[in-house]
Order: sequence, then C-alpha cells, then structure tokens
Amino acid sequence: ERMTIQTATKQYPLFLGEGMIESLPQLLAELGFSSGTKLLIVTDETIEKLYLSELLVSLRRSYDVYTHIIPSGEAAKSFEHYYACQTAALEYRLDRHSLIIAFGGGVVGDLAGFVAATFMRGISYIQVPTTLLAHDSAVGGKVAINHPLGKNMIGAFHQPEAVIYDIQFLQSLPERELRSGFAEVVKHALIGDRAFYEWLRNNIHSLEDIKREKLRYCIRKGIEVKARIVLEDEKETGVRAHLNFGHTLAHAIESELGYGATTHGDAVALGMLFAVFVSERVYGLSFAGEHFTKWFQSYGFPVLLPKQLDPKQLLQKMKGDKKARTGNVRMVLLKGIGNVQVETIDDEQLLSLLYEFSQ
Ligand code: NAD
Ligand code: ZN
Repeated sequence: ERMTIQTATKQYPLFLGEGMIESLPQLLAELGFSSGTKLLIVTDETIEKLYLSELLVSLRRSYDVYTHIIPSGEAAKSFEHYYACQTAALEYRLDRHSLIIAFGGGVVGDLAGFVAATFMRGISYIQVPTTLLAHDSAVGGKVAINHPLGKNMIGAFHQPEAVIYDIQFLQSLPERELRSGFAEVVKHALIGDRAFYEWLRNNIHSLEDIKREKLRYCIRKGIEVKARIVLEDEKETGVRAHLNFGHTLAHAIESELGYGATTHGDAVALGMLFAVFVSERVYGLSFAGEHFTKWFQSYGFPVLLPKQLDPKQLLQKMKGDKKARTGNVRMVLLKGIGNVQVETIDDEQLLSLLYEFSQ
C-alpha cells in the first residue's frame, strides 16, 4: 500500500508492504533515479548480516552501489561515525545526484539522514526501515547525531524522497526491540486516535499478536498520527509537543539508569503510565488506572519504577528536560484518549506524585 507523507515543503510516498525489495530498482526509477546513479547504502552490522546481500542483488541490477557499515546500537550516532560516513561518501565520489539509502532502525536513519542533509549541502536519501520503532523515526524528517552533552543535539530537518517499509525485515526483530517500538505505537494511539486505541485493546493482547496484517495496521495507524502531527506543527500550532507524551519521565529514567540499561520504549511505557496517573489527579478523572497497568503488563512493559530510582533525582532530570521552559516541568497529559493537554506542574506536586507512583 502507498501512503503520502505531506509536509509544508514536500510530499513523498511511503510504501508499506511485504517483499518489496525485488521491485526496489523500479521504485527508485519511478522516483527519478536513473540507472547508473550512485547509491550509498548505510546499514549496521546486524542488518548487514541478515539482509544486505538481498538488497545488493536487487539494486546492483540497475545502480552503482556502495555500502557503509556502522556498529549496531546508539553509540554509532556519534561525530566519529558521522565523519567516517562522510569520508566514505567522498571516497566513493558521491555527488549531488547520488542517493543515500538508510537501511536499518532509527539509529541508521538518524545518522544516514544527517549525512545526507549535510553532504555537499544536502543530497537525497530514502529510508528503508527495519524496526517497529522506525515507524516513528522514519517519518517527520528529523535527523541527528548525539553529543556527549545531549542526545540528538546536532541535527537537521531533512525529508527523505521516500520511505520503503517492508515488514518482512521485522521478522527477525528481537522481542525487546519489538516491544520498544510498540510503546510508540501505543503512544500514537493514546494521543491521536481513539478508534485505533480501541482496536489495540481488542486485537493486540500480547506481543505475539503483532505480526502480519496486525503489524502492518499498527504501523499504518501509528504513522498516520505522527504524520498528521508533524504536518500541523509546520503550521506553528505547537502540537509537536504532544509527541512527547510519556517522554518527560522516560528521558529522566533513561538518563538515571544509564543509556542502554533500558530500551527507550520500556521507559516510554512507564512514562505514559505516570502521565496517565498525573492526568487522573490533575483533572480529577479516571482512566481506570489498574486496567491501564494490566494492559501494559500484558505486553511485558515494566509498570513499576525501578527501585534504585530516587524521585528527587528524577525530578531534577525532568526539570532539565527541554520542555521545562519556566523551571517548572511541562507535562503532556490526557483529558481523554486523543485529547491532549500540556500542563505546567509545580515541583512540589510533581515530587509527591512521583513518590506516590513509585509505591
Ligand atoms: P536501532 O536502529 O538501534 O535498532 C535497535 C536494534 O535492533 C539494533 O541493535 C539493531 O541492530 C537491531 N535491528 C534493527 N533491525 C533489526 C531486524 N530487522 N532484525 C534484527 N535486529 C534488528 O534503534 P531503533 O529502536 O530502531 O531507533 C532508536 C533511535 O531512533 C534512537 O537513536 C532515537 O533517538 C531515534 N529516534 C529518532 C526519531 C526521529 O524523529 N528522528 C524518533 C524516534 C526515535
Ligand atoms: Zn520516543
């Protein structure tokens, strides 16, 4: 199936399906990349072993293909790997007409996208995602690398020419990575699509259920919410902040536990539970918190804050979050499914809520 991602400046296709790699050269031709164009595939070591040869066989029929492999994991979003990738692009003599293919998860997409955004002041790239989380990272055009002082601090907005999402690649995704990406699917449902939320509750009872048609539906619905918010944000309504639902506490947890100790999605799941808990208190309404917790548990998400985390430390980290403009923490809350509100919570109240939540 073909979706269209619309931004203020650009429109590009997103293909979602199975077994599309065979027809990739044809797709690229339709996008205007004539045969003989230089392609640089950027991928990580895991994907290299699993799928690179398949992609090469397909693309080499029509294109002049080079590859650049980065280590798997977040550490590859560094200046060193950015530089190495630029060096490869120069050595292979890519030019303004060349195309970079980001073949992997969010790490590859962010790094390769940022290389494409800056090589010779910006060349074309496409996203070929291989994780569930990439339904989030491959849409929106944000590309970045990390700085030791902060995640995603050096980056650009650079929209791809296309996203080719072949869910066949997701078959080999480890359970923890599937769950991590699924947290963002749940987030998109909660902030933007009540019907999808209900569909999730009725159709996805455990991670086992996330395959084939249901996997595809989750990706499509998640992308629809994300794409809609990204488009609206370009009209300056500020709704992009809604994507931060669950993330204020999640970033604090990730930073306190040390990166890599938890997946991003597990931290986001806990952060969403906390945001729901805070919403109930602030607005005096009920989401039937226990049902929410049970629901998250059925996917294997953690539902209790790890014991070693100190609410006072978490609060400090939450205040450091970029959404905390005034010194007090701004949290994305829910008045209902799909009904998002951003609120400033004062420190004292937040701390006592954190204590209560950690019981
Ligand atoms: P990732 O790319 O590191 O992939 C997770 C792990 O799964 C890696 O070890 C990878 O090698 C492995 N893997 C990937 N595909 C696989 C497959 N098909 N089979 C087996 N193993 C596979 O991480 P991610 O979770 O996809 O993305 C996280 C990154 O995305 C973070 O750096 C985050 O900052 C970024 N992100 C960016 C945006 C954005 O808007 N640009 C949004 C959300 C997240
Ligand atoms: Zn996230």
